[in-house]
Amino acid sequence: MNILRHIDPADGVAVLTFDRPGSSANVLDEAVLRELDEHLAVLEATPGLRGVLLRGAKPTIFIAGADLHALAEGGLSPARLAPVIDLGHAVFERLARLPVPSVAAIHGACLGGGLELALACDWRAASDSAATKLGLPETGLGILPAWGGCVRLPPLIGLPAALSLIVSGRRLAAAQAARAGLVDAVAHEEYLEAAARRLLARGKRPAPRRRLVHLAPLRAFVALRARVAVAARTHGHYPAPPRAVEVCVAALGKSHEAGFALEKAALLELAATSAARHLMGIFLGRERIKKSVADPRPAPPRVAAVVGAGVMGAGIAWWLAAHRVPVRLQDVSPEALGRGLETIRRLAAEAVRHRALTPVEGRAALDRIIPIDADTPLRGVDWVIEAAAEKLDVKRAIFRRLEARVAPDAILATNTSALSIDAIADGLAHPGRVVGLHFFNPVHRMPLVEIVRGPRTAAAAVDSARRLVLALDKLPVVARDRPGFLVNRVLIPGLVEAVHLFREGVPVAEIDRALEDFGLPMGPLRLADEVGLDIASHVARDLAERLPHLAAPGDTLERLIAHGWLGKKSGRGFYTHPTRGKAKPNPGLRALRLAPENPASRAAAPDRAEIVDCVVLVMVNEAARCLDEGVVDDADDLDLAMVLGTGWAPFRGGPLHHADALGAAPLVARLDALAAGGRPHLEPCAALRARAAQGRTFFPASPKTP
Ligand code: NAD
Repeated sequence: MNILRHIDPADGVAVLTFDRPGSSANVLDEAVLRELDEHLAVLEATPGLRGVLLRGAKPTIFIAGADLHALAEGGLSPARLAPVIDLGHAVFERLARLPVPSVAAIHGACLGGGLELALACDWRAASDSAATKLGLPETGLGILPAWGGCVRLPPLIGLPAALSLIVSGRRLAAAQAARAGLVDAVAHEEYLEAAARRLLARGKRPAPRRRLVHLAPLRAFVALRARVAVAARTHGHYPAPPRAVEVCVAALGKSHEAGFALEKAALLELAATSAARHLMGIFLGRERIKKSVADPRPAPPRVAAVVGAGVMGAGIAWWLAAHRVPVRLQDVSPEALGRGLETIRRLAAEAVRHRALTPVEGRAALDRIIPIDADTPLRGVDWVIEAAAEKLDVKRAIFRRLEARVAPDAILATNTSALSIDAIADGLAHPGRVVGLHFFNPVHRMPLVEIVRGPRTAAAAVDSARRLVLALDKLPVVARDRPGFLVNRVLIPGLVEAVHLFREGVPVAEIDRALEDFGLPMGPLRLADEVGLDIASHVARDLAERLPHLAAPGDTLERLIAHGWLGKKSGRGFYTHPTRGKAKPNPGLRALRLAPENPASRAAAPDRAEIVDCVVLVMVNEAARCLDEGVVDDADDLDLAMVLGTGWAPFRGGPLHHADALGAAPLVARLDALAAGGRPHLEPCAALRARAAQGRTFFPASPKTP
């Protein structure tokens, strides 16, 4: 039983409580919808009923949405989906048409199908808890709200606000939802039901007022504006947001039935796209990782220490503190600590401004951080995360001193981006407790943490690291202690390739635009500027030294660095970065007169297709090599890490899914042609050749790009 029914004899209100057995989340599947339908049938026949109140029994989730696992397992075929869409439409419409008023008392996440259910009620009350979030994230999964969301939301909050919510997938806190007109009352969790009952006393909701903006000419203008904004953001790769705009606009002013038919046709069409399959695959991959630990309870440390209060150390210390972990933050001097604490204060202010934390929670998190500038004992600390300078001797010295200061069972982690975990652990009495925890920059935004397992790292340390990362609401992927681990190992060759293309004479903007159009979130040269050209150059050199099959970066970056052009941090790199306004290609680059480094045998300048192939396929090739070398356990982990760690074209599913979409044989042929054309490092790796010869794919029944 998923829904409990109770009729309060005092006021004649029927309370339906969603409480999925054995789960911390409520989700909607066929069984739940049928159960709800049965309850509604009973309520329709109940004499003296005054109203219906829907509530959830879970501490942080009202209803998280449709059960995507069940949907994905059954396959996303029209035959499977159509009846589920029809059922949702019918049951929600039955709720909407009850002769008595209905209200959703929303505490916790109310997303997707959960919000569509709430929208079918006359009224909505929401708790002011931080756990309460309302949104329609479907377009982020390559589909659209198709249980009435596209039909009911625009009349309720107005077309512009509805389109913005649906195409962005944004989640609103209760107060924001109230301002938008999505909820009618906000109350503390304890008084939520009383507030909901007061809404019931208003009776059925009157028909929505007519809005000027819904009249034909204005409506067309709003739709056009939404389409243009979506196209600018998606480069045409994500079919769901523009289709959702179309459905919302077309359904406005039509009967519910007609609107539902539009939703259904669009959903069936979108569910068949490779973008939807990949985006859904990423969602399910994230869920799989969250459940990947033997003991599902996250294990936050009792007390953590962070060594190094620079960009990363400050970010990590803040993230720990914001997750209720007391932190000791160490650096070499009071000045360095002061800079770190200032960064942390900015991060706290940002979290409060974005409503991730209340002001009181933000203050409490800041209070959890204690700065130290001497090697004091760290007996009560069970996790140390080192984020000091990227130098092996510095890190070794830190770890040696740490070993003497911490309890015997404390785990020692390093945030190194490239140094060997094993080398850092050298000389320690217990090298098994050393593990890599590679957070990405900026820590509070990036969802991935690479856990790096050295040859001597104990299994228990890796397991603890997984649980720590999950407790911090991040997603762990375990990588072996190989140069560049996984993400940088695959990403950096693409970046180096872009630098070579620039050196061949291709303009900066042309390279970046081609790759953004392919689906990377940022062009590789722009990314180099963000990372810092000095750091990019160092990492690229280091990788090429340790992995001789990779191309060395040449002297291009060094020549820029010699001019003081370090990228964004110095205001100039491949681009100029004004404090206000957009970055523009750096006009000074021409004056450097960088002659082509390797004129090779290429007669013509590379065209757009070649630009994309060089940068993308060198990454695909490296990804295949990583899988072959066992840098990660499986292809799913690899693609997920690239998508989460670098934003690698999510609609393509990641580099190995892209390899499958191209087909191993054509991919190998293209790499061979590029290698023969003067780019020997693009020679396909043995793993790809073997796949091409045997006609094997990386994933079973790999989806092809339509
Ligand atoms: P940073 O230069 O901003 O900060 C390093 C801090 O460590 C400085 O405050 C410095 O005073 C301190 N420090 C140096 N020696 C120390 C010692 N012996 N004891 C205590 N503190 C010491 O560097 P960062 O960018 O924060 O990088 C830190 C680590 O994280 C490096 O290993 C780096 O490779 C890695 N990393 C960086 C990024 C990034 O994008 N910046 C991303 C992932 C990982």
